[in-house]
Amino acid sequence: PKVLLTGGSGFIATHLLQLLLNRGHEVVTTVRTEEKAKIIRDAYPGAKLTVVLVPDIAQPNAFDEVAQIPGLEYVQHTASPFHFKWKDAKTEVLDPAIKGTTSILEAVKKYAPTVKRVIITSSFAAILNAAELGNASRTWSEADWNPNTYEDGLTGPPGVTYRVSKTLAEKVAWDFKENEKPNFDIATINPPFVFGPVVHHLASLADINTSNGNMVALIVGRWKSEIPPTGVHLFVDVRDVAKAHVEAQERPEAGGNRFFVTAGLFTNRDLVPIVRKHFPQLADKLPDDAVPGGDYPGGSIDNIYKYDNSKSIKELGLDYISLEKSVVDTITSLLAVGAK
Ligand code: NDP
Repeated sequence: PKVLLTGGSGFIATHLLQLLLNRGHEVVTTVRTEEKAKIIRDAYPGAKLTVVLVPDIAQPNAFDEVAQIPGLEYVQHTASPFHFKWKDAKTEVLDPAIKGTTSILEAVKKYAPTVKRVIITSSFAAILNAAELGNASRTWSEADWNPNTYEDGLTGPPGVTYRVSKTLAEKVAWDFKENEKPNFDIATINPPFVFGPVVHHLASLADINTSNGNMVALIVGRWKSEIPPTGVHLFVDVRDVAKAHVEAQERPEAGGNRFFVTAGLFTNRDLVPIVRKHFPQLADKLPDDAVPGGDYPGGSIDNIYKYDNSKSIKELGLDYISLEKSVVDTITSLLAVGAK
């Protein structure tokens, strides 16, 4: 099958692209610049791969041209801002996330009648309710929705703005399916913190994607006097996220579903002994046991919320990569980049 993958230069999309090609799919992917297009083309010589430029998904009709490529059967929409470096919340975060999702769905409905399903990279951000993150008896699952509003996104601190961008992007997708009744169905993948190896496109550690930023901070010695708060205490490895997207595409019964993909709970503090055990050369960069911070509330896993990932295991066949493997493989890849 022929798949359109948006945001092909991203951290998650790089793994997704690799997996789609490995499983024999033909891929058309969008990136923002010719420079990024070249990196991807060079990484897959001879592959059934077309790379096209869509510089800004927030622009009206951004996907009209690419959707006219004949024979598309599936769309994987991953492009969306995930960083905290913007000046204007509306134009730089909310618009690309929300309008970008609307544009891809409109373009597919209008120009790509052969598309059967659109899989969207949503987030745990579209599930969690920040007011309940202190509630240890709460169990998060696909049944939950972030209650934040557009107004919260416009006025809130950066974390809230990002979470609103993901929540409303997912909502407009489900609303589109219901109101516009396109031929295709929709599935969403909702990951929390994504760790995992970075691949070829990263030029230096300074270009690290947001969710691996902590891992870089740890190995360059920035946690030596204090381990930062973990924030969201749930993680998943990027290879499982990529697999979830492809399984949600290939399994007919996955349509119409959200999938909360998480391997489990973690703390920033948990990362330290894993790095110490596997990377003795980094010992002098690591905080010792007396250094405070980065733990569960009150120092116990009993004080944090729970999660229910059973749907993703049962319906997508996921067998989650452990924290230890994810951290080791991430750091191995970071050291390879840093050594360049
Ligand atoms: P990246 O920053 O690596 O990927 C984001 C991608 O979106 C990049 O290819 C980026 O292009 C593209 N993009 C952003 N804004 C625009 C725009 N205005 N126009 C065109 N393209 C744009 O991060 P991830 O791989 O982590 O994120 C991928 C998806 O996964 C996002 O939807 C994110 O919200 C979601 N997600 C990520 C999680 C994580 O922990 N990593 C957790 C939950 C969800 P460029 O780099 O060229 O700007």
